[in-house]
Amino acid sequence: MKQKPEPCSRCGFHYNCLCDAVPQLNSQVRIELLMHETEAQRSTNTGQLLENALPHCRRHLWQRKAPPAALLTLLADPAAEPYLVFPGEDASELENIVARPRSKPQAKPVHFIIVDATWQQARKMLRQSPWLQDVPTVKLPESLVTGYTLRRNQPDGSLCTCEVGIALLEAMGEKSNADAMSAYFGKFLETFEADRQHQTVNKA
Ligand SMILES: [Zn+2]
Repeated sequence: MKQKPEPCSRCGFHYNCLCDAVPQLNSQVRIELLMHETEAQRSTNTGQLLENALPHCRRHLWQRKAPPAALLTLLADPAAEPYLVFPGEDASELENIVARPRSKPQAKPVHFIIVDATWQQARKMLRQSPWLQDVPTVKLPESLVTGYTLRRNQPDGSLCTCEVGIALLEAMGEKSNADAMSAYFGKFLETFEADRQHQTVNKA
């Protein structure tokens, strides 16, 4: 058997470097990834795709005893409007947030906090983060369907982090950015499967 080639130092794939496929999007959408520490090690993580492509996407590592400082600063900032993207009875519909007029100079920038973890971890993280308790929650339309295939044991149809980001881009009126992100996400899935089978993606 041939030896496995060294992985790309940036995207981590062995057989197919995905770095050229990263779109550099001119986006105004602000995303705060609240990432579980094990998520940062997982090759199946899709929050990293948002980080790679969006100018206003930040990563905050979640730790039970040490809330991420930059996120706490944001939550305390009266000039920002943060939302936690998570389903629940109290969650507002995304369209209600988006429909509010934002062209006025005093409009606050919206920041979407996405919990980047498995669903099991996400629930636990929220329970153990009292500092998130007062952040208003927003939910995505239930009609959205996932195309994510790399993880089992997640609730049926639940979106992965990158797909949540795509839905937010679209809802915030950035359709072409959402399309570019979708294309990148599609390439990521294809590349992941090919790499897993020790194959190169047919680029023809
Ligand atoms: Zn690469």
